[in-house]
Amino acid sequence: MFPATVAGSLPKPSWLAEPDKLWPKWRLEGADLAQGKLDATLLAIKMQEDAGIDIVCDGEMSRQHFVHGFLEFVDGIDFANKVEMGIRADRYKALVPVVTGALTLKGRVHQSEAKHARAHTKRKLKITMPGPMTISDTIADRHYGDKIKMAFAFADLLNKEARALQADGVDVIQFDEPAFNVFMDEVPTWGIEALHRAIDGLTCTTAVHICYGYGIKANIDWKNSLGDEWSQYEKIFPALAKCDIKQVSLEAIHSRVPLKLLSLLDGKDVLVGVIDVASDKIETPEEVAQVIAEVMKFVPKERIVACTNCGMAPMHRDIAEAKVRALGAGAKLAREKFA
Ligand code: ZN
Repeated sequence: MFPATVAGSLPKPSWLAEPDKLWPKWRLEGADLAQGKLDATLLAIKMQEDAGIDIVCDGEMSRQHFVHGFLEFVDGIDFANKVEMGIRADRYKALVPVVTGALTLKGRVHQSEAKHARAHTKRKLKITMPGPMTISDTIADRHYGDKIKMAFAFADLLNKEARALQADGVDVIQFDEPAFNVFMDEVPTWGIEALHRAIDGLTCTTAVHICYGYGIKANIDWKNSLGDEWSQYEKIFPALAKCDIKQVSLEAIHSRVPLKLLSLLDGKDVLVGVIDVASDKIETPEEVAQVIAEVMKFVPKERIVACTNCGMAPMHRDIAEAKVRALGAGAKLAREKFA
């Protein structure tokens, strides 16, 4: 009852990469960097285990950014001549790489960290990858001439890596789709179909993380423009409830998403955000349990998983670790009170 997990990323140790940044520069090179990523993965696993997290992640220690960590392993992309593009429907401008040819994988993407994590934990292991809609909104296209066609080409590559991760012993494969609350009309028409392509043939647990973004300024300003009730999800939840993905991860604590919308996710496990990643204030176990109690009004308790609102990559490491401990303690308290 109420297992705990994190959305995905954790802050990297400062000997590995610049701290407190969403796009940190690596502080090691070559073989030292490769070894450092694995060492940091081990620390991330141990920290989660000690905090009482049941489904642990690699913490995304091996990637600089949640989208580009995947793109680095894809041929057919020009990284040398980036272009400026408005992303997430122009919420912010970013310098993005350009697709210039047919997309293929150079090889395995997350094998090293997945195998290393698998070898060092007996807990369930989750690995995250960017979803096809979010990738296609974070890259320019000069080859496919059609955003949807390009998204499906990425979905095929994600599927190849996902099948290999499953064979590596990964228990949960999660796709991060922050674009799902930007292109609400496109989620039911092709976004979910692209995810289905990405999970084709998988027998492990599959998840999709949808969200209103990290606690960075552009996102906070945008959230402030959305009004008192964030009902955007009303448009996509019925389609998500019908899809083949087993779990849906989304933010709840300090969010203006009306929790009653969660009843539209009938049949799904819901990874409820009980830890705010946009604030440095550490939650108490009581606060965490209280959010779980609220969610229990709309989601059967056996389908509730306690989680963070979003990735923690840009946070201070000590604060993120205290929040992960609050997550584990809060889930435990909820088990004692409500199970
Ligand atoms: Zn997120």
